[in-house]
Amino acid sequence: MTQTDQNSGKLKLAIQKSGRLHDDSIRLLKECGIDISNGVNKLKAEASNFPLEVYFLRDDDIPQYVEDAVADIGFVGENVVYEKKKKIDVVEKLGFGKCRLSLAVRRNEEYTGVQFLSGKKIATSYPVILSDFLKEKGIAAEIHEISGSVEIAPGIGLADAICDLVSSGSTLFMNGLQETETILQSQAVLVKNKNLAPAKQQLLNRLLFRIQSVKKARNNKYILLNAPNDKLAEIISLLPGMKSPTVLPLAEEGWSSVHSVLNENDFWDIIEQLKAAGAQGILVVPIEKMIV
Ligand code: ATP
Ligand code: ZN
Repeated sequence: MTQTDQNSGKLKLAIQKSGRLHDDSIRLLKECGIDISNGVNKLKAEASNFPLEVYFLRDDDIPQYVEDAVADIGFVGENVVYEKKKKIDVVEKLGFGKCRLSLAVRRNEEYTGVQFLSGKKIATSYPVILSDFLKEKGIAAEIHEISGSVEIAPGIGLADAICDLVSSGSTLFMNGLQETETILQSQAVLVKNKNLAPAKQQLLNRLLFRIQSVKKARNNKYILLNAPNDKLAEIISLLPGMKSPTVLPLAEEGWSSVHSVLNENDFWDIIEQLKAAGAQGILVVPIEKMIV
């Protein structure tokens, strides 16, 4: 087999070369058991233990590359997917790169609702999403497209409002702005080319299976506790488990060890109830992979 034949059989993944999504993209691959061999200074790298080739690109270019099948799949923010409007499919949310695209105005401004924006000048790097939003709300405003440092626009008199990505809100605060509307909640997603060959789709299915196992494991914790036998029934009723909790006798007469899996969302509630029901020596450990 020639080099080209070998590579054409590999799934080609585009990720951000450097920036907010880069490290989490590499980490997700690693947690899926996929190691990237050569450094990120190159344009591409090969996985040593999965038929995968990784391309390092600017996040803005990823949707186009995936539409053109230069890459089969990509990890990119939903904000970029919706701004670029390329013909690609969103397959899976990845659970990192969480942020929101919001409107903000000067803090001393009295904001009464979206009507405030009528006839105003709004600076943004997301003209497509913003103009869709304004159209839907029936508001005529002037969109001023700038590629970076959008948050300083009102301060220097360039715009009356901005539409920009926010995570903690501290950048807005430091620039004397108040967040007024959220247009889009965003996180990194896996996107794919619309015409994947069946062999590539099969590789993608294998990768997706691993990604879903990693995501489930992140949202769950393994819990071990000791329970007096006369409280077992009550304690077990509090625990969901993957099927049902595992119960093992302790060396000490009248006591059992109970093992189960808890979802992060109800975690503290259930721990409190378990303690109240008489559970002792509660241990909580992270789960690396979860195959259900
Ligand atoms: P590139 O050089 O690849 O074009 P960039 O400067 O456009 O990089 P980053 O600032 O690294 O992009 O952000 C990449 C993505 O990270 C964003 O498109 C968004 O999906 C996500 N993100 C998460 N939190 C934030 C945030 N607080 N501000 C900006 N982007 C965020
Ligand atoms: Zn970018």
